[in-house]
Formats: sequence, C-alpha cells, structure tokens
Amino acid sequence: MTVHLVNPSHVSFGIGVITPRWLYVLAAATPDTYGPPALADETLEPLEFSSIKAGDIVGIGIHTGNALRGYEVGRAAREAGATVIFGGIHATLYPEEAQQLGAAHAVVTGDGDRVWSTVLADCQAGRLQPRYDGGRIEGGEFLRGRWELLPEGRYMWASVQTVRGCPKHCSFCSVWRTDGQRPRQRGWESVLEEIVELRRRGFRFIALADDNFYPVTLNDLRMAARRADPSHLKQLEDARNSRFELMAQLEKLPGDSVFFTQITMEAAEDPEFLDAMRRAHIKGALVGVESVTPEGLKDIYKDFNMSGEALVGRLRTFRKHGVHVLGSFIFGLPSDRPETFDATLAVAERADLTFAQFVMLTPFPGTLDFAAWEKTMGSQPESIAGIPVTRHWLIPQERRPKVYVEHPVMTPDEIRARTQAVWDRFYSVRSIWNRSRVVTSMKGRLAFLLISKIYRQMYANTGIATDSARVSRSAQWARLMARPCRRLFAGRPMPDLRLAPDA
Ligand code: SF4
Repeated sequence: MTVHLVNPSHVSFGIGVITPRWLYVLAAATPDTYGPPALADETLEPLEFSSIKAGDIVGIGIHTGNALRGYEVGRAAREAGATVIFGGIHATLYPEEAQQLGAAHAVVTGDGDRVWSTVLADCQAGRLQPRYDGGRIEGGEFLRGRWELLPEGRYMWASVQTVRGCPKHCSFCSVWRTDGQRPRQRGWESVLEEIVELRRRGFRFIALADDNFYPVTLNDLRMAARRADPSHLKQLEDARNSRFELMAQLEKLPGDSVFFTQITMEAAEDPEFLDAMRRAHIKGALVGVESVTPEGLKDIYKDFNMSGEALVGRLRTFRKHGVHVLGSFIFGLPSDRPETFDATLAVAERADLTFAQFVMLTPFPGTLDFAAWEKTMGSQPESIAGIPVTRHWLIPQERRPKVYVEHPVMTPDEIRARTQAVWDRFYSVRSIWNRSRVVTSMKGRLAFLLISKIYRQMYANTGIATDSARVSRSAQWARLMARPCRRLFAGRPMPDLRLAPDA
C-alpha cells in the first residue's frame, strides 16, 4: 500500500517556481510505518495514473484554481480502487463538493499537519470518517517539510512558513477567514533548522510563504500598552522579539542567500524591522498596495494602507532600507475610473518598485466579495455547460469564464484591456532596463530582464487573457524559458553548513 500525495494542475511547466510546501509537510505528517509517500506535483508533469493501485491512499490538496483537475484525479483514483482523501483551502470551503464531484471517501478541513496521521490510521483500521476537522493548530505544531523527498533541480524557490493568519480583514482575501485573524507564529528555532536544511540542499532562494511577515505593528503594541492587563502586551512583545531573533539567525547564513516574503505596508513605519530584514537577506517582499486612492482602499476594507504621496513615501522606505518591493495592485474596484489606470502606473513607477503585478478584482470563494457577488447573481444565475457561473471553477477549463465583480461604469472588457496595457507599459523592455539598475553587473541586469519578462508572461498572459490560445502560447513560452531561468536560481549544495544558535 502506498500513500500518494497529489498537487493537481491542468498545466505542467516541467519546472516549478516554488516548491508546493503542503506536499512535503503532509509527507512529514505521514508516519514511517506507511513507507515513503509518493509525491506528484502536476505543475511539473501530469500524474502517472498507472502508479495508483487498489488499496492505495491518495491525498489531494486543492485550492479553487485547481479544484476541477483535483476532482478528475480523485475520480480516477477511486476507480483504480484507492481511498481518496481531499484537503486544502477549497476543500475546507466546499467539503461536500469534493465528496460529490471528486469521489472523496473523506475530506479534511483546516490544517492537515496534525490530523493526517489520524486519517491514515482510521483508513487502515477500516473506520474512515467522511469528515475530519484539522482546526487551526498553534505555531509550535507546524511541521517541517520532508525535503529529502524533493526531486533534484526542478524548483527555483524553496518555501518555508513562519506564521499563519492575518489580523486584517480585506474584502477580497480569504486568508483571515480560513487561517484566522490571530497570527500563529512558529518558533524561530524550527524555522531556522528547516532553512539550513534547504540551504544545504542547494536552495539559495527561499520564499517565506507567510500570510504577513509583520504580524505585530507598532500600533498594536501601543494599544496593548494601554490595557490594564499586561498579558496581551507581553504576548505581542514576545512575538516581535521572536521575529527579531529569527532574523538575527538568518543573518549568519551565507551572503548569497535570498529570502522573499509577504508583508503589509505598515512595516515601513518600523525602520528597525526593515533593517533587520535586510541584514537577514530578506531581499524582497510582496506588498499589497491594491489601490492608490483612499476611496479604493475603503472599497476593500484596507484603509490601513496609505494613498497618494504618503503611499509613494511608504513604498520608497522599503527600498531605502534595502528591501525590494513587488507591489500588488487591484483594478476594477467600484471607485476606479478610466484615469485610475494611469494614476496607478505612475505610482508604481515613482515608488521605486522592483516588480509589480496588476490583477482584476475577482470574487474568490471564501471572501466577503464572493458572498456579496453571489448574492447579486440571484437564485438563477447564468449557466455555462450546465454549471452556474457562481461555481465557475467547475466549468471546463476551455469554457471557463473569467468572473469579475460588476463595475458601475466600466465593462469587464474595458477593465481587462486597460489592465493589460498597464502590464505592457510597466514591463516594456525600456522600463525593465531602467529598473534593472538595482543590480550592478551586466550579467545581473540581463538576468533581471529575463526574470521580469518571465514573470509578466506567467502571470499577465495566463491570468488575464480570455482566449485559450493565448493562455496556451504563454504557457508554452514560460515552459521553454523556465529551464534556463532555474539555473539562475540554483545554488551550490552546502552539505556541511551548520548554524548553531549561538554561532
Ligand atoms: S490581503 Fe493581506 S493584509 Fe489583507 S487580510 Fe489578506 S493577508 Fe491580511
């Protein structure tokens, strides 16, 4: 009997950008008595269905984007006589769907780290339940990935998680609803051990796949200090100190290490934190800028962000302290107007951003925006291939529409065309070349150009384009470029690397 873990995907690139962490974490959660699990990441290549035999257990992790492919895999695995178990964010939101369409014998909701071994044991003992709630485990219980199972030379970035959950409540984001609003932070010792292991294996680039790397703001500390009971303040201070301790340890890694994370713009208030990030080789962060206007920020409940000149100042602060920013912007907010596109591009260009992404407001399941959008569609929404558009992820890939929140003055086509034009201008060769000054050598600048173009190709063309021919051309191009690009990321394996806490 083999335990298979499958990360489904309709498109395979041969090379992956980031290691799908959940596969390696669930591998670690699989007791040794079951033997080494067989891991399949379909973003590399399609699953070999013949490898699944009667009596095997197949775990499939899905998010909304790959749910349909996950269901195909689930049905085929069940037909082959395997026990099928679904988990992941989408299965947490729609457990019945995985049972009805994915032929799941069981569905795990919430965090899988701890509950997975119980699911396997129940399966072996013939008492498998249809539902398991993994809940939200504490940071100290997060498992390390079993990285010795990684295939050689297939990924550009490794991934490590240091904190789950976000105290904010942005309307387009499901993180605070699925991972909770209380940040659950992992102890720095276990994070460090995992990072050292990945560095030994030759990963120089590591994504800190966190919901928000800056979970305690200075304002949080001020508010806690006003409370009569000091315990909350103490908790926040401990969490903040643990961040600094982790960063002090990362500082000792070889100088060519590169980390990237996600962070809220509030971190710009905290030069001490940004300096610690730079010293820790955290060279860049995705910052959700979303909108450049106060009205836009209000639309999405993100008024803790800055707008206008203050926004430019905040974003520049990151660069001043040596942290590069990938700015993320959303178009199609109710208050957006045709002139918003140029205004956004101007901010993106003036704010010293190294990379930027421009996405259209999309109602993702699990978000407040989705609930509001679903309501506006009424009880008889339009159907495609017999499937209501409010379940658009179940519509076959080639006929699946892009769904967007209805806009008061612009059509989806207008928003799409204007968004595409902003991508084209931000990623014109001339603009990229100007930004490539962040690196000094000619080789480095050419690499920057290549990476910028690949980034644009993978995200703008596959994400915004509506015609499937364009999506497929983009995927082919990205597939072709991915292999040479991966070489730029590869580091030298350092099997002897040691990093004692007090070294
Ligand atoms: S968008 Fe970012 S800041 Fe807002 S809730 Fe999601 S993770 Fe938190």
